[in-house]
Amino acid sequence: VLAALRNAVDDRADDLYDLAARLVRERSLLGAEEGAQRIVDERLRRLGFAVERVEPDADEALRHPHGGYPLLPYDGRTCVAGRIEGSGGSRSLHLTGHVDVVPVEAEERWKHDPWGGELAGGRLWGRGAGDMKAGIAAYLAGVEAFLEVVGAPRGDLLFTSVIEEESGGNGMRAVLRAGYDADATLIGEPTDLRLHANGVGVIWARLAARSEGAHAAVADAAVSPVEQLFGAARALRALEERLNEGTPGGHPYNLNLGEIKGGVWPSSVPAEVVLRVRLGFGPEFEPEDAQALLREAVERGAPGVEVSFEGFRAHAYEHDLANPLGALVASCHAELHGAPPETKVSTATTDARYVEGPCLCYGPRAGNIHGTDEWVDLQSVRDTALAVALVVSRWDRSA
Ligand SMILES: [Zn+2]
Repeated sequence: VLAALRNAVDDRADDLYDLAARLVRERSLLGAEEGAQRIVDERLRRLGFAVERVEPDADEALRHPHGGYPLLPYDGRTCVAGRIEGSGGSRSLHLTGHVDVVPVEAEERWKHDPWGGELAGGRLWGRGAGDMKAGIAAYLAGVEAFLEVVGAPRGDLLFTSVIEEESGGNGMRAVLRAGYDADATLIGEPTDLRLHANGVGVIWARLAARSEGAHAAVADAAVSPVEQLFGAARALRALEERLNEGTPGGHPYNLNLGEIKGGVWPSSVPAEVVLRVRLGFGPEFEPEDAQALLREAVERGAPGVEVSFEGFRAHAYEHDLANPLGALVASCHAELHGAPPETKVSTATTDARYVEGPCLCYGPRAGNIHGTDEWVDLQSVRDTALAVALVVSRWDRSA
């Protein structure tokens, strides 16, 4: 079976790279996910999946302590959810990934068009190439190879392509709530063919400082919105240090000052400056505890600054590697690469936090994700497809 799966993946390598490149060419930023979703939808139907669309429920997400705060209305922005019903007698498996990508910054400094889907130097380049359109393409190719070589699954085979992984996780919550949960879940995030089982807690906050505006000649530095936000940032750095004190493995909980906007003129005091931040934290806190710590730190360090929360309310999570899924992925990887996969302690979060039961991330090798000239290594994309084909066949046939 392995030799046949390998041939099936090799035979469609060009199609796999082309599929990943076409996904990169769809600018699936927040709110514009449909072009990429249509490609996945069409491919799943061609493979014989029954496909439906699942729209997240904003009110439900807001009520849930781990739901994301939607940044945009859903209004037809949906996840693609496909299922092949098994003939019976085996375990179900859910393969999944996200099509949304983070914005491109300093496009003029990219050497490769961020939306070009360029294949060069053994890599696919562009925003989302690594995080995580190549992972979706590899998982689809793996399923196709499995169906061709092994045939119809005995257990239910589920495949979803979700939105909003990068801004709160409501896409994954929606497909799980719609019944797309299985005996095991595999997510094609770019892990460099390693196994990731954990994620840190993550919250986003929006800090706003305001003034009535004034001529620079009479400006009081103490009420400058920029100075107030400097004060807030210093307070949050101190909180970050506290959160990381005594943690094993260095500095898992990062504060990121991600976006700053405000002011219109060097000789005018800004009427408003806004700073958007991301804070990581550990399993000893619920997201609402982390929000309280953040609010308290800003109130003490920069009393005039207004704090509101948006996007992520992600709790820290840790899945078990020592279960049938972890053991199977590890043994398949070892068979293909001569040694078991490394595991990595992650300092980010993924949609895996919402999955109950065995769930791991395993996918290709990528670089510069969320940065300039993002890329994914094509050989690792092909390796991912073969590993997934093997995992699906063994999961389905060995129960
Ligand atoms: Zn991702």
